[in-house]
Amino acid sequence: GGNKNFAVVENKKDHPGNVKFEQIGGQRTAKKELLEALDFVRHPEKVAQMGIRPLKGILLVGPPGTGKTLLAKAAAAYTDSVFMAASGSEFIEMYAGVGAQRIRQIFSKARSTALKEKKKSAIIFIDEIEILGGKRGSHSSHHEYDQTLNQLLVEMDGMATDDRVRTLLIGATNRADMLDGALVRPGRFDRTVQVDLPDMEARTEILKLHAGNKPLEDVDLETIAKETFGFSGAHLESVANEAAILAMREQLEKITHQHFAEAIDKVIMGEKLERRPDK
Ligand code: ATP
Repeated sequence: GGNKNFAVVENKKDHPGNVKFEQIGGQRTAKKELLEALDFVRHPEKVAQMGIRPLKGILLVGPPGTGKTLLAKAAAAYTDSVFMAASGSEFIEMYAGVGAQRIRQIFSKARSTALKEKKKSAIIFIDEIEILGGKRGSHSSHHEYDQTLNQLLVEMDGMATDDRVRTLLIGATNRADMLDGALVRPGRFDRTVQVDLPDMEARTEILKLHAGNKPLEDVDLETIAKETFGFSGAHLESVANEAAILAMREQLEKITHQHFAEAIDKVIMGEKLERRPDK
């Protein structure tokens, strides 16, 4: 299609080649740790010289909507890597063997795409990795998960043998405690990076990123940040968007504090509806 200049992306519409670390608000520690780890991908010769074994996996741990996918995309752009994304939820209804085959495909496609695009590295991002990387034997009748996880382990073990394309697996989860021990042992997911809900300062930063370019009137984003304790980056993006929609509905050219206040309520209500168990 029209995206020849970008790496092949599965299940994600934004182009990872465009995502910069600067467009991710807060997450200072996560960014720092991730950048440090990515230098292993950028300078493999140094890593080899020091006799350090190549980094294979980074695990991003934190609640939904905090920027884990954005971080993985920014990591791909920063290292000029091919980016491939998958979600653990894709594997839920898969028959035995199909999940394992899909894992094989993702890794081989990452590699072949990198070779085709003359890139030296590939980043594979698997969201909700606890679904396929859950403790083995814990699903009782779901033997297919074990095969899928085993295949993932096989792929991770094989990563180091390819010197034309370096592959890095970035996994995301909000339930690190559910992961099989084999995944988090040294040589697999070597690094765990905590991606937490934004604090007041980070919320201000995120609001500036999402509302800063919108026409605001008497809106103090720090005040909005104070009123959005517990909101994720995704929630804050929604608030900025909803506020703009509300202003437009009133045929106003400026977004006011009142619009933000209503938008906050709307996002809170939406959350409650989503959490209703009998949906
Ligand atoms: P999930 O676990 O649900 O997949 P996630 O942690 O991967 O969530 P993202 O997909 O990265 O979250 O974020 C969703 C959207 O929320 C982003 O596209 C962005 O608009 C907004 N967002 C989330 N976190 C941040 C942040 N730290 N800075 C700026 N925007 C953010």
